[in-house]
Amino acid sequence: MRLLVIEDDPDLNRQLAAALTDAGYVVDRAFDGEEGHYLGETEPYDAVILDIGLPKMDGISVLEAWRRAGRSMPVLILTARDRWSDKVQGFDAGADDYVAKPFQLEEVLARMRALLRRSTGHAKSEFSCGPVRLDTRNGRVSVDGVAVKLTSHEYRLLSYLMHHTGRVVSRTELVEHLYDQDFDRDSNTIEVFVGRIRKKLGVDVIQTVRGLGYLLTPPNDAR
Ligand code: CA
Repeated sequence: MRLLVIEDDPDLNRQLAAALTDAGYVVDRAFDGEEGHYLGETEPYDAVILDIGLPKMDGISVLEAWRRAGRSMPVLILTARDRWSDKVQGFDAGADDYVAKPFQLEEVLARMRALLRRSTGHAKSEFSCGPVRLDTRNGRVSVDGVAVKLTSHEYRLLSYLMHHTGRVVSRTELVEHLYDQDFDRDSNTIEVFVGRIRKKLGVDVIQTVRGLGYLLTPPNDAR
């Protein structure tokens, strides 16, 4: 899952990015409204954290411009104070949730998990596919109840597939959602990671759909 953080306070921006990275997301950062607006319009983010008070272009204008352009990714706004008018304006502009400053990072993380699972049609924070379970609250993966240790790259890939069960996910889509903007993108690395995940899980839940990508399927459903 690839996220964008738009916050002009450098310390807060860094803290948010660090907490989200630790939680297993890939994070791009912007420090003003113009830069953030551009990134959100051109890159495929799974969700965005958007400050309202920003230099060059305020958060409400950024959000309105994205929604006008048909960008539908979930957006969590940060309101400077617990001002009700900020929240109303934000929701009317197309925000999906908000956190008022000052906030606890844990709350932002929990709200982000909820936004991501709702936007992909899931009601619970624990995902499963056959004997494989993935808990987004603590980043744990298990097979038949036995914990499996994945690297952060492997976890991100499996988590993305878990959020998008029931459809084929292309290599290009995975590359776009698993790496930040500075990463040297090579879709062959995806194949290597899928191979490692299959080996670690020991059950074949990731099907390769030739020429299209990958499909997560419980083993007994395999065709
Ligand atoms: Ca600000």
